[in-house]
Amino acid sequence: MYIAGEWCEAASGRRFPSHDPATGERLGEVPNGDAQDAERAVAAAAEAFPAWRETSAYERAALLQRAHAGMLARAEAIARLMSREQGKPLKAALAEVRYAADFLAWYAEEAKRVYGRTIPSARRDQRFLLLRQPVGVVAAITPWNYPVSMLTRKLGPALAAGCTAVLKPAEQTPLCARAVFEVLHEAGLPPGVANLVTTADPAPVGEVLTADPRVAKITFTGSTEVGRRLAERAARHLKRISMELGGHAPALVFADADPVHAAKGLAALKFLNAGQACISPNRIYVQRPLYGTFLETFAARAARIRVGHGLEEGVGMGPLVDAAALAKVERQVADAVGKGARLVCGGHRPEGLEGGFFYAPTVLADVTPEMTVYREETFGPVAPVIPFDDPAEAVALANDTDYGLAAYVYTRDLARAWRTVEGLDFGIIGVNDVNPTAAAAPFGGMKDSGLGREGGPEGIEEYLEVKVAGISL
Ligand code: ADP
Repeated sequence: MYIAGEWCEAASGRRFPSHDPATGERLGEVPNGDAQDAERAVAAAAEAFPAWRETSAYERAALLQRAHAGMLARAEAIARLMSREQGKPLKAALAEVRYAADFLAWYAEEAKRVYGRTIPSARRDQRFLLLRQPVGVVAAITPWNYPVSMLTRKLGPALAAGCTAVLKPAEQTPLCARAVFEVLHEAGLPPGVANLVTTADPAPVGEVLTADPRVAKITFTGSTEVGRRLAERAARHLKRISMELGGHAPALVFADADPVHAAKGLAALKFLNAGQACISPNRIYVQRPLYGTFLETFAARAARIRVGHGLEEGVGMGPLVDAAALAKVERQVADAVGKGARLVCGGHRPEGLEGGFFYAPTVLADVTPEMTVYREETFGPVAPVIPFDDPAEAVALANDTDYGLAAYVYTRDLARAWRTVEGLDFGIIGVNDVNPTAAAAPFGGMKDSGLGREGGPEGIEEYLEVKVAGISL
């Protein structure tokens, strides 16, 4: 753990291991923190806050720029660690490290643009002045699927705004979190400005972070179920929240689209990170005239992905994170096939890879709303494909979910693209595009997908408080 600028053990002295999901190999151990350690970390962040908020935006920017350079200098080593601890192929891990570093550079610059405003008064002898100031201590809880970028997406804007932070990473990927803090430490992070509490048992740490009066804000990325619980607790203490939760992304492929382009793009996106992404397409609706061609190209792409250890040359997809993730995928596929879905490819664990949590890229055709996979988030390499006839009904089909994070549209008709984007109840939409994310673009969802945005100018607003002064002249 990293508290008040020092690497330290848990107060209890306990530790827990981290494993490679491809082999079961034990990669290392980290301290197993509990409520006491969380309190220590909150105290350190609270103590560091007054001095950190007094630093100039330029000083904070300089720290973040050094961290950006440090992360890029170590990119290869961090990516290798990520491949082993989280499972994604090395190339994807490297892309994630660069994406993670982008948040540090982008918010280094944005720190300098936290502007205030003057407001005219009805009184001749009065002016209003609006200031934006850091909210205070931020508690950040992050998931294992993007174990480096989800940390900088929170710490970048929080630190840029002048907040201090306590971060609790997922128990599956503590070594990646430690690597991020090594970068911050080497960049000259002042003691207490960001603190790391690792734990195998998140609930007691979460309880401190959501209840301690010194914490002003909770920022969470993870499941809707846990997010809802944390939001309820945070509400009791009237803390600010940002919640980046689950998704069930639809893709709409209209009859005027290029089916081959759509199939290639959506296959690349679907099997990225073995489908373990909240913006992964979970329902792919294809207008009937393109259905056959689309399925053929999509399944051919899926079938040729090599599955294996992320560090092996030529591997395009790694394992799932754990046994529970694998069991969920197997259950959803069996349910869908039992209810009449057509298994076009995959649907089994790949041969020769029994030592890890691997599952073959899987395509299910003719999926219907009765199947579990139609509503429940998959978080695995399973692509449900569904035909549709009436383009006027497409938006309603896409919106038929409790989630509202990402959606994808394929069409060559500009008016249709525009109208569809307006009609979709989702926060992030790719139009003929499968990567609508960047440090500069706000990322976040509607409905059960959460509250708030990360990235872009909106991302730093989440860490700022507004203050107004009425001044008599
Ligand atoms: P996933 O399904 O992606 O594993 P989770 O919501 O379980 O999603 O995990 C996301 C993060 O939430 C992880 O850091 C995990 O440790 C944390 N977490 C899980 N349960 C709790 C809890 N009761 N209190 C605080 N954090 C929790």
